[in-house]
Amino acid sequence: MKETEGASRGSRVPDKLYEGYVFDLDGTIYLGDELLPGAKRMVEKIREHGKRVVFLSNNPTKGLKDYVEKLTRLGLPTPEDDIVNTVVTATEYLLQNHPDATVYPISEEPLKVALSEAGIRMSEEPSEIDIVIASYDRGFEYKKLQIAFDAIWFHKRAWLMMTNPDRYCPFPGGRGEPDAAAIVGAIEGCTGERCRVNVGKPSPVMLETIEKMLGLDAKDCVMTGDRLYTEIRMAKDAGMPSVVVLTGETKAEDLESEPPENLPEFVLDRIDKLIPPGIWKESGWTENDG
Ligand SMILES: [Mg+2]
Repeated sequence: MKETEGASRGSRVPDKLYEGYVFDLDGTIYLGDELLPGAKRMVEKIREHGKRVVFLSNNPTKGLKDYVEKLTRLGLPTPEDDIVNTVVTATEYLLQNHPDATVYPISEEPLKVALSEAGIRMSEEPSEIDIVIASYDRGFEYKKLQIAFDAIWFHKRAWLMMTNPDRYCPFPGGRGEPDAAAIVGAIEGCTGERCRVNVGKPSPVMLETIEKMLGLDAKDCVMTGDRLYTEIRMAKDAGMPSVVVLTGETKAEDLESEPPENLPEFVLDRIDKLIPPGIWKESGWTENDG
């Protein structure tokens, strides 16, 4: 059966292991500061079978070390190579597509450090900037907007890309703070130019970066997340099988009104059901443990 025939609102579970597993983090692997039920044994089982696991985040204000530290603290030790955020995708995208470009990142330190380590040239001189990178930057100020404006509008040289399209970053208790979309909006607003490239979810650029890093085809991997319009949309656009797990944003009733083209192959109430029933059986797992 073709993967795409399986779009389902029901509880069908995967009947095989995939070569690569791509996971959203918040609402999928952990919620706030706790691992979700079954997440630890699920990841351990996938690794035990020699399959690759990659965790994804749109947040460019954290370095990979921050994720390593958090996952390790929660009991899921993970090397940097298994984590991809928009610091990684922005850097990889530039190395693959514009290795000789001079860029101006409107960003916090982790992106600047990664670009510098990758040998990407950075400049604050508008007449020599080829690409302005709008990011989630809590140090954003008028001077940075002026440099972007001069590079794009006055010199008609630079174009705009963004690390991620998120409007705001949610905080516990229903608050939040402006994310990269606010910076994109400011630059688009004054230059009249639209942002050309997004390297965060749901852009397929993010999955393409991962496929290249893993050396795996989209069809041999599976994407799991808690949001239809980010992880699941991105996977479907890239031809990667996808799974929504109902432990975060998406609720079972949300799926009832969705057209079939928005639905993932699998819908799971807990993340360890990604592991095929045969392996559950041989491992002696039940839903009451893990
Ligand atoms: Mg999530």
